Amino acid sequence: MRPSLGKGVPLTLLGVLLRRDKIEKIKNDGTGSFSGDCTAGQIRKSTYVYVMENLITYEALWRGSIFVVILAAMAIWELSAPARRTEIPRLIRWTNNFAMVVLDTLVLRLVFPILAVGVAAVATERGWGLFGWLSFDGLGAILLGFLLLDLAIYAQHIVFHKVPVLWRLHRMHHTDPHFDMSTALRFHPIEIVLSMLIKMGVVLALGLAPVTVILFEIALSGTALFNHSNARLPAWAEKPVRWLLVTPDMHRVHHSELREETDSNYGFCLPWWDRVFGTYRDQPKFGHDKMVIGIGKFGERREQWLDRLLIQPFRPDRK
Ligand SMILES: [Zn+2]
Ligand SMILES: [Zn+2]
Repeated sequence: MRPSLGKGVPLTLLGVLLRRDKIEKIKNDGTGSFSGDCTAGQIRKSTYVYVMENLITYEALWRGSIFVVILAAMAIWELSAPARRTEIPRLIRWTNNFAMVVLDTLVLRLVFPILAVGVAAVATERGWGLFGWLSFDGLGAILLGFLLLDLAIYAQHIVFHKVPVLWRLHRMHHTDPHFDMSTALRFHPIEIVLSMLIKMGVVLALGLAPVTVILFEIALSGTALFNHSNARLPAWAEKPVRWLLVTPDMHRVHHSELREETDSNYGFCLPWWDRVFGTYRDQPKFGHDKMVIGIGKFGERREQWLDRLLIQPFRPDRK
């Protein structure tokens, strides 16, 4: 099954990273269906086809290696310049938060025969969804699809805060008494399964291309690691970066124990939705050094172990 890749999108920057002989091969294989001398536009097109196909073929490798690189970079950043300190040993939180993401990955693979990227491949192949009906593809479809996926994740995040039974699941992410890049890995498996179902629904309804989903998932997991980092951007960089991405200072407000601060800054990747829909909060009331992280419950050392994290949604709020 070969998903539609869109047309005529210049990705010269990525193209220069590729070997020229690979591009020649595409030309001669018929993927680009060129013969003889090629124009610059044809080379760009075959480069684009190659990059997109490479991304789809080696999806797991791309996603895994980018994830590991960002994870390592964020770990080095927060270890060298931590924004806040905690009494709970890093070994306990990191071991259990990492175990959670491994478990989440296994559960997803066991529950679903195909994931969101597979759904996108089927939808694109069969022309399903809004973009399919409108025959909308290319760079415009990738950008708009990316934006709409991010908006959907923002809306989903609000729903998981407002609906009590869903809050029980999402609460586990917020009961981390500290805030560092390992917090980005700490989501309950049931929340992960429900999120995947919602994402699949959005992909199907819009008819998004696999490449859109892959790029979005790479961006989402990368920015989640970035904006949960226990580090702070220098003051001169924080404001401009915050116009493009959710920064650690912006997302840390969302992990505040104060309810009005927990109910703000829902964005994970792009910071614009909070500003558009009035849920944006610039800084925590008591400042980043003095603000309390968590929800005032389940913050003890023993509660950070995998077994307790897994049963936490089924335990009542303690006074
Ligand atoms: Zn939340
Ligand atoms: Zn968070």
